[in-house]
Amino acid sequence: MKRAIIVGAGFGGLALAIRLQSAGVQTTIVEARDKPGGRAYYWERDGFVFDAGPTVITDPACLSELWALTGHDMADDVELEPVTPFYRLNWADGTNFDYTNDDTVLRREIERLHPGDWEGYLKFLDYSAGVFKEGYEKLGHVAFLDFASMIKAAPALAKYQAWRSVYSIVSSFVKSEKLREALSFHTLLVGGNPMTTSAIYALIHKLERDGGVWFAKGGTNRLVAGMVRHFERIGGELRLNDPVARIETLGDRATGVTTKSGWHADCDAVAANADIVHTYRELLGQSRSSQRTAAKLERKRYSPSLFVVHFGIKGTWPGIPHHMILFGPRYKGLLEDIYDHGVLAEDFSLYLHHPTVTDPSMAPEGMSTFYVLAPVPHMGKFPVDWAEVGPILEKRILDEVGRRLIPDIHERIVTKFHYAPSDFKTDLAAHLGSAFSLEPVLTQSAYFRVHNRDDAVPNLYFVGAGTHPGAGIPGVVGSAKATAKLMLEAGGRG
Ligand SMILES: Cc1cc2nc3c(=O)[nH]c(=O)nc-3n(C[C@H](O)[C@H](O)[C@H](O)COP(=O)(O)OP(=O)(O)OC[C@H]3O[C@@H](n4cnc5c(N)ncnc54)[C@H](O)[C@@H]3O)c2cc1C
Repeated sequence: MKRAIIVGAGFGGLALAIRLQSAGVQTTIVEARDKPGGRAYYWERDGFVFDAGPTVITDPACLSELWALTGHDMADDVELEPVTPFYRLNWADGTNFDYTNDDTVLRREIERLHPGDWEGYLKFLDYSAGVFKEGYEKLGHVAFLDFASMIKAAPALAKYQAWRSVYSIVSSFVKSEKLREALSFHTLLVGGNPMTTSAIYALIHKLERDGGVWFAKGGTNRLVAGMVRHFERIGGELRLNDPVARIETLGDRATGVTTKSGWHADCDAVAANADIVHTYRELLGQSRSSQRTAAKLERKRYSPSLFVVHFGIKGTWPGIPHHMILFGPRYKGLLEDIYDHGVLAEDFSLYLHHPTVTDPSMAPEGMSTFYVLAPVPHMGKFPVDWAEVGPILEKRILDEVGRRLIPDIHERIVTKFHYAPSDFKTDLAAHLGSAFSLEPVLTQSAYFRVHNRDDAVPNLYFVGAGTHPGAGIPGVVGSAKATAKLMLEAGGRG
């Protein structure tokens, strides 16, 4: 294999591109938008820097590996800083819980919630370490192309009762309802409902505990910029602002891509990092089998969307940590409203991002950058006009942050805007405006997710949140490792 083209410069596309280019394959990424990063896009407004998406960087080793492939050092391009506490969880009754991997602090925090739960937590930690080993270290970067690979994983799935949900497993170990929420909410970070997502995803706890939670100085956009710099340094090419209109095929081979601007390039292999339904429906739309695959994919369950309010305010807030979860009065009921009923509830649980407490340079002096997000049903479940609903929801969410943390929030705002499900659809071609692609339930995981290599066109590959292992930066970077291995082996470079 001499030449590869990747459609999309999300984390998955970038990681795959670096792997291919490092192995000597001339690689071009073609990206629709004016900046790389995909969900990790960013804006600069009135002196504030707003990251659009991922803010919690875990498993930095999966990223530094991308530099190490060619003997480079990630630290030359990206400055990562540890974040402590990992998160502050806050409930409407005023209870706070600082979540960290410092056992002295964690034990104190757990015993404050429920004196008897430390022992149960340690048992949960054992469980989490087991699934981390099986599900992440062994299988997190391996392609599941056939059912036999699923059968091989079956004993581990049975041992860890993968059919149970994360919340159910956590509840078998600890008694405090608040602690159950604290140890199960993580699936939301990859689009999963803690009540229905396979217990295998409890591995995220061990992942964070061992690898820590990090922040890229200047924001996640700096991590993206660092990846691009490294990719270009080793000879890769990034083409921005030019959406791919068609992946060209001849018989059972992908032969190249053509963009909306009319640019065309031939290649030996194509990898799609774009949304899976968009790829099969629009980019491969000329083939009947792709249309059938698109229709099959459209019948699957998709993760919810997110409603994100970005705001820059006067003042600094040393008392508000970098990451906060503001739980609402309901947990299970709210999740059902979002995932099953397609209801925009009166209450909400929020994630608050406060990067300037770690890096003040992301706002003008004496000011602060925030974003606050609420999971909301995707557009298939809740088909509203977001141009109408958006401003109302934005105000309600800011009011809630005001009630709980910043009383005069509205007077302090210098700049604000929101990002709605319809924006995910328009900007990223995201099916139903989903923020995380396919919902990570057991029946849509591993072999049951989109394969890293197409079943019918052997030089057409997939990478990113819709493929195994799934959403989140470590997930899509793991999918890039799996896809790169397939591509390089097929090209005689593995
Ligand atoms: C608000 C938010 C917060 C999040 N927080 C975290 C977090 O804290 N930690 C974490 O680990 N994960 C987080 N995630 C999840 C994580 O960001 C995503 O799972 C991950 O970034 C998705 O990467 P991807 O490789 O699938 O590509 P995407 O980011 O989906 O990028 C795909 C790219 O393909 C491009 N594209 C689409 N169609 C075409 C076309 N026709 N031609 C050319 N290009 C095209 C798009 O423009 C886009 O750039 C968050 C997600 C969101 C939305």
